Amino acid sequence: MLNFSISRDAGRSRNSVSAFFEAQEMLTLSIREDDMADGFAPLAFTADIEAETAAVWDKVKHHVTPMEWRLHAPLIVEINRLKREKNAAILAHNYMTPDIFHGVGDFVGDSLALAKEAAKSDAKIIVQAGVHFMAETSKVLSPEKKILIPDLLAGCSLASSITGADVRLIKERHPGVPVVTYVNTTADVKAETDICCTSANAVQVVEWAAKEWGTDKVILIPDEFLARNVARQTDVKIIAWAGHCEVHKRFTPQDIADMRAAWPGAEVLAHPECPAEILEASDFAGSTAAMNDYVAARKPAQVVLITECSMASNVQAESPGTQFIGPCNMCPHMKRITLQNIYDALVHEQYEVTVDADILDRARQAVQRMIDLPPPAAPARYDLVKARHHVDVELI
Ligand code: SF4
Repeated sequence: MLNFSISRDAGRSRNSVSAFFEAQEMLTLSIREDDMADGFAPLAFTADIEAETAAVWDKVKHHVTPMEWRLHAPLIVEINRLKREKNAAILAHNYMTPDIFHGVGDFVGDSLALAKEAAKSDAKIIVQAGVHFMAETSKVLSPEKKILIPDLLAGCSLASSITGADVRLIKERHPGVPVVTYVNTTADVKAETDICCTSANAVQVVEWAAKEWGTDKVILIPDEFLARNVARQTDVKIIAWAGHCEVHKRFTPQDIADMRAAWPGAEVLAHPECPAEILEASDFAGSTAAMNDYVAARKPAQVVLITECSMASNVQAESPGTQFIGPCNMCPHMKRITLQNIYDALVHEQYEVTVDADILDRARQAVQRMIDLPPPAAPARYDLVKARHHVDVELI
């Protein structure tokens, strides 16, 4: 936006030449400020900024080009300055790009770990560098904080596969059967749930729920593949819903066969949101935290992470001796979050995520019940011998 009143005022108070340059400078500043507010003009990449971000560059240089870095580094410095100024914290999910994960994330990890950190933090503003259901979970655990998501369209195929009304119908059809819901769901769905679970503790939660309710079956929704993989790890019968993560669903056994043919020594690690045939063909299966631990502890020479692309990029910074090999699939929802819209979120304190009080209280009970269970000693790995035994689930 051009600000003509500044130019005229400057022209009246100086001789014509100096007034011209002063007006030009003020005009330029005015344009830069307005453009920055709208997210268009890049900030300058100075020697100071280069020095201040050198440690981050060292972590991301295998995934970010020097040309991109000239745009990223000034934004990283500005975002970190805004966080201090506004007492804000950024929760960066494992699937964020490395510039976000290593550059501005105050807490990094999976969605539940992030929400728990948000609750412990004394920050007044939380920016969720992740997708919408994660921001809702943060709000559920930190109702007094302002929770922002940089892009309201950052959704999730799994979370949008089911609604609270669907869960009420499922409960009508299966009275007395406990409902375990994956954390990758909306607050509306969590509110209809007896207890939540993550991919790391799903087996433990299912067995706890069956014992607590005195049943031999449990409703585990909405991820069909997680449900099928859990069913192979337990004697509890599983009732499942046909929701899928569009990222993990795309992997095929042929992808793994191709990888093994090209890199015979590579170890293959799969996420339990993948179809059961993928776990059958893998060397290890577990949550993102379990994969991280596996790589850190065993330091394989070559590894294939069957999950979202950025996970490998982010783990690689901590494991420089390991070669990370594709395939990976990109989550289009996670990739809506950028340094630029995180910057805009902090500047304008947008977009605030709220949850109705009634839903919030009931959703918190379901999440809190899971948090109150004794934590596993380490993120659970899926037993691959059991993972290769076919077990039927009842699909709703
Ligand atoms: S990776 Fe899958 S589960 Fe995670 S946000 Fe993307 S679509 Fe949803």
